[in-house]
Amino acid sequence: MIKAFCTTCGSYHRLGTGNTIALGAKLVEKLERRKSIDLFTQAQKDAPTLFTNYLFGENRGKMFGLLECKDLQRKPAILYAFSGQYNGHWLVEGWVPPIFNVDDFSNMTFEREKQIKSLTRELEHTAVGEKKRLSLRAERKLLSQTLMKDIHSLYTLTNFRGQRQTVTQAFYGNNGIPTGTGDCCGPKLLNFAANNDLIPLGLTEFFWGRATKSGSHQHGTYSTPCNEKCVPILGFMLCGLESKS
Ligand SMILES: [Zn+2]
Ligand SMILES: [Zn+2]
Repeated sequence: MIKAFCTTCGSYHRLGTGNTIALGAKLVEKLERRKSIDLFTQAQKDAPTLFTNYLFGENRGKMFGLLECKDLQRKPAILYAFSGQYNGHWLVEGWVPPIFNVDDFSNMTFEREKQIKSLTRELEHTAVGEKKRLSLRAERKLLSQTLMKDIHSLYTLTNFRGQRQTVTQAFYGNNGIPTGTGDCCGPKLLNFAANNDLIPLGLTEFFWGRATKSGSHQHGTYSTPCNEKCVPILGFMLCGLESKS
């Protein structure tokens, strides 16, 4: 059960798991059979970058998520998500897209990441103790901080009242916004549902692949959205859902 505080209402919004654990088992069966996340296309192209062996190598496993919904005609719909990118892909057919527009993201990051990298190279070739180092470091820090802020402005969340806020506006808490906020399955799924007139009934996430180094995520284990990045924005995102279900 998700329970997240909404600053607009001054109360908690909730969402349970519904039938998503059983639906997750079916998804897992498909992943095991196909050995690829290319599960939803007509002509499965067997693109090697979509193979699931990626999840068992040095990059380790990943979170997957399911959102059980009904549409306005009360017909069931199931949405699927993977967290972040899958082996360099933001977009894979049949899986919900990220919260931001991928073209806008690429345009924004491409040039500036090159600049940041070239500053790093310059730093490596500047002798320790040289005055220039300080100004190079300051320049690089400013560039990455501005880039991070601008990236966050691309993440526009829609809730079930049809209101929109950036992750920065929606984030509830005093700590800074962690990197990757908005990239987890829960926010991706709920944002897609809110933008497409789908009413969520249940949500779950599970980890698939080689366990994380810290051991905090183990292959095949189910969980609710994370407390660090997701719960602080889910209060806003779930707002308006009670009146629809
Ligand atoms: Zn999360
Ligand atoms: Zn609310």
